[in-house]
Amino acid sequence: MELTVLGAGPAYSDRVGSIGASYLVSRESAALVLDLGQGAFPSLVNAWEPSELLGVVVSHLHPDHFVDLVPLRHYLRYEFSPSRCVTVYAPAGIDRRLDGLHDEPGFAGQALDIIELSEGVRTIGPFDLAAALVTHDSESYGFRVSAAGSSGPGLVYSGDCGRADDLRALIRPGDTLLVEVAFGPGPVPPGAQHLDGPTVGALAASTAVGSLLLTHLQMGFDPDETIESVRERFGGNVRFVWPGDRLEL
Ligand SMILES: [Zn+2]
Ligand SMILES: [Zn+2]
Repeated sequence: MELTVLGAGPAYSDRVGSIGASYLVSRESAALVLDLGQGAFPSLVNAWEPSELLGVVVSHLHPDHFVDLVPLRHYLRYEFSPSRCVTVYAPAGIDRRLDGLHDEPGFAGQALDIIELSEGVRTIGPFDLAAALVTHDSESYGFRVSAAGSSGPGLVYSGDCGRADDLRALIRPGDTLLVEVAFGPGPVPPGAQHLDGPTVGALAASTAVGSLLLTHLQMGFDPDETIESVRERFGGNVRFVWPGDRLEL
């Protein structure tokens, strides 16, 4: 499998070029996208023909994780005749949110085939997609993507997550863990449902992940200080990912 980082930003940023969360996972000429946050659509078009995606998988209904479904919907509707359709796996209510943005009932459904997510494993083409609820928004998921039917290493993606232990059900030793570290070296303020470096480092060490990819760093936090805070707990490979990165998994 290969991971292409389309966007790795948080909800807002002063970092020029920051793009909302979006990750393309490809294998055998098939691809899934995990999240499609603000500004991710141009990166997607340049990385993969969007109409040929096996699906867009949305972790939760915060706009920095799904709002570029609007340009995707327009692209599918207006760049092709007849218009095309892509499957979206998402928490319940995403169609209502997208329709509301456009004040048009049926707006999303004209080009997006929406399937409500639930916990468990489903096979999508050459991928197994496991979903587990995590503490964040009212219905938020973390995911594990792996080669269908394989016991080999996979990619675990936290989405946004306020409780590191929620990810343990997904992680197997040797996996790549792509995890939010919104509050950098920490600490996470009370009530904020996000993670910080020390918490992520401890999780990575205790689950024996093969490598650790950090993302979703909020404005005002320093990447190097964040990595140092992770290394105090985790001795393995750790780095931030940024838009344009391509990694073999
Ligand atoms: Zn977010
Ligand atoms: Zn969120």
